[in-house]
Amino acid sequence: MRPSNDPLIVIGAGQSGLAAARAALTAGLRPIVLHAGAEPVGSWPDYYDSLTLFSPARYSSLPGLPFGGDPDRYPHRDEVVAYLRRCARVLDAEIRNRTRVVAVHGRADGGYLVRTDTGDEIPAAGVIAATGSFGRPHLPSLPGQADYAGDLRHVAHYRRPQAYAGRRVVVVGAGNSAVQVAYELAMHARTTLATREPVRFLPQRIRGRDLHHWLHVTGADRLPRSAVTRLIRHAAVLDTGRYRDALASGALPRQEMFTAFTPDGVRWRDGTTEKVDAVIFATGYRPDLDYLSPLGVDRNAPRQVGGVSTTHAGLAYLGLEFQRSFASNTLRGVGRDAAHVMNAVVAQLRGESSRPAARPPDAGR
Ligand SMILES: Cc1cc2nc3c(=O)[nH]c(=O)nc-3n(C[C@H](O)[C@H](O)[C@H](O)COP(=O)(O)OP(=O)(O)OC[C@H]3O[C@@H](n4cnc5c(N)ncnc54)[C@H](O)[C@@H]3O)c2cc1C
Repeated sequence: MRPSNDPLIVIGAGQSGLAAARAALTAGLRPIVLHAGAEPVGSWPDYYDSLTLFSPARYSSLPGLPFGGDPDRYPHRDEVVAYLRRCARVLDAEIRNRTRVVAVHGRADGGYLVRTDTGDEIPAAGVIAATGSFGRPHLPSLPGQADYAGDLRHVAHYRRPQAYAGRRVVVVGAGNSAVQVAYELAMHARTTLATREPVRFLPQRIRGRDLHHWLHVTGADRLPRSAVTRLIRHAAVLDTGRYRDALASGALPRQEMFTAFTPDGVRWRDGTTEKVDAVIFATGYRPDLDYLSPLGVDRNAPRQVGGVSTTHAGLAYLGLEFQRSFASNTLRGVGRDAAHVMNAVVAQLRGESSRPAARPPDAGR
């Protein structure tokens, strides 16, 4: 790739985009951040009202700007929003809010042309796709789902339990969001957690210290997917004990996942049917990379090693699940990844490395 005076385009201004912009500035590049939202705070304002971070403040910041306040507290969602606002303010980068990238095209000279919904066409030397791994809520498809007349939604569109007071609700999933949301709903509504397998837990605290302390000091936070899946075979819910107790005591009932929807409810595995007012799927997310389709990028599994595209020089990703480690799509991990991908992109843009990184057999997810 030839050196170029065109800017580096960063797509998305959540923690991934802000970390990318900071790493680009440190590397002497000129980033322009294009962001679909009204302000550069990522998806955090859209998460449910009661959300507090699963990591203490001391392990929840981007490079160069500590979270502030009591380092051992678990900050609320709104504190994260305020923190990211501060990160954006101290960043000397151009951030264009309300500007959604609709397509990224390759150019014959190896650069890119970035098209936005505001009608701009911006030539770019390189592109960082920093829209993360939570852009597309994933809904399974069950028999009868289309004809279910109740309130069916993904947890991405759930806000607070009071809206469900007195109703019959089923929350689907065995991850952190599913259990947290079902737990708070159970105090307001007749709630069941529906899972395929029993819920597994990870202790929030071990020997008086938060789990993130141990992830940090043992280096487990930096391990790649293959090493982590050898250690932890199943997804698990971080818990101080209250979720385990609620499930064990029946305060939060769990049932094996239902097999089908009926027009007004669900059919349980034993064949019985039940009227259910609302079903909330906490069944995960996929990255939203449709804007890279002109480059032929697979929106579910872009080909990359450690976030650096193996198909296009000057293209990299940030915030993907397990991009480099367990912490890649968290506040505490994305800064490390940003420095890593920026080194590779800078080398490509300066013509020091013209080829995308080779792709080992299990990479790219
Ligand atoms: C419910 C929930 C709880 C979580 N809790 C924690 C936690 O406790 N601790 C932790 O560290 N992590 C947590 N995470 C994970 C992760 O830190 C957050 O999801 C975080 O928001 C990811 O940041 P991001 O910048 O990668 O993506 P996002 O925050 O999703 O930001 C990406 C931004 O890109 C914009 N965008 C999308 N497409 C385009 C486009 N085409 N053009 C321009 N802009 C675009 C979007 O508007 C969005 O604001 C949680 C995730 C979820 C879903």
